Amino acid sequence: MNYFLSIILIFLIFEYILEIISKYYNLRSLKTNLPLEFNNFYSQKKYTLSQEYTRENIKFTIYTSTLNLLIMISVISFGGFNYLDLFLRNFNINNDVFLGVLYFVIIILFNTILSLPKSYYSTFYIEQKYGFNKSTKTLFVSDTVKQIFLSMIIGSIIIFLLLSTYEYIGQYAWLFCWFFLSIIIVLMPIIYINIIAPIFNKFQKLEDGTLKEKIQYYSQKVKFPLSEIYIVDGSKRSSHSNAYFTGFGSNKRIVLFDTLLKNHTDDEIIAIIAHEVGHYKKKHIVTNTVISIFSIGIMFYLLEFFIKNQLLFDAFKMDYISNYAGIVFFSILYSPINVFLSIVLNAYSRKNEFDADKYSVETIDDKKNLILALKNLSVSNLSNLNPHPFYVFLNYSHPPILKRIEAIQNLK
Ligand SMILES: [Zn+2]
Repeated sequence: MNYFLSIILIFLIFEYILEIISKYYNLRSLKTNLPLEFNNFYSQKKYTLSQEYTRENIKFTIYTSTLNLLIMISVISFGGFNYLDLFLRNFNINNDVFLGVLYFVIIILFNTILSLPKSYYSTFYIEQKYGFNKSTKTLFVSDTVKQIFLSMIIGSIIIFLLLSTYEYIGQYAWLFCWFFLSIIIVLMPIIYINIIAPIFNKFQKLEDGTLKEKIQYYSQKVKFPLSEIYIVDGSKRSSHSNAYFTGFGSNKRIVLFDTLLKNHTDDEIIAIIAHEVGHYKKKHIVTNTVISIFSIGIMFYLLEFFIKNQLLFDAFKMDYISNYAGIVFFSILYSPINVFLSIVLNAYSRKNEFDADKYSVETIDDKKNLILALKNLSVSNLSNLNPHPFYVFLNYSHPPILKRIEAIQNLK
């Protein structure tokens, strides 16, 4: 067997087994006794509900991962990538860049359509059953249509530019692509908040009042360059809550989900904002951006060696060699490195969460409200209080809630 094909298949299966084992452990580590920390906070009934929610979600993702694995292996073994290529070549498009854009667009579309039943079931059965879903079928359809159009437009532009570079520049194409994608990574938060997010949600400035005064007072105290505070209507789709901020230099915006305002006291919200400010002050956001730029640099450099590798094309049963298909195949070959990277980055991110909690406690000079906020968040999100350490190691970007509370309590 072609050794690229062996590597790809072995890894796809290995990754799948790893996932199933970690999920199995996670299911087994669900405990029926309410942790002491949450006494008087969670009713036994609601706690049991949170475990059913976790159990149902894990089981559902086991089914979808199994299905995805089977689809991927079938597409590869039956030469699906070649059939698509041959089909598009029938149209006599004599330009490899356009051919490549079409190739990618169809793959993206195929992926989106495949994921539709999954997100429909998750939204209207699981989230609905546990009272999280606030979305309607009309909203779901309009979201889907918008998402497909957006991913087609943004995807086509990026792919067009990347493929043109490989087609016309040749030798140093990887450097240009790296540079170009780095700019996108840096600008993406701005593009997201100004162009993409408003397509899906309404943003309103926070009205004057005690909460606004408290936020402003806090940002002045810690010298955080806050320009605006926005409320986003997250409750339109789901009752899960969140807070984040975006912007460059002295122009920072804080965005709060309306659900956050509903479920938390002003002081808890300040503690959450202080945690977000902590990420900024401790340079986590800058570091993360630098890490992603660095890692895509390595990826583009490695791509050079594989983009027109005959053996790699044989693995996918291709009749023709092309840059666009080479990029698709390389991205599949690269996935073990991605899995490894995400484990390392998750560990780093968990460490950063502890640091941001510490910053919040130190600058507010109070542990109580952050702990309350974390407890309220996990109760209202029905978070799993006892995830298995192996599952956390593989998947969690945030430490389990009880570990965070413990770390906060141990702070001086
Ligand atoms: Zn955080």
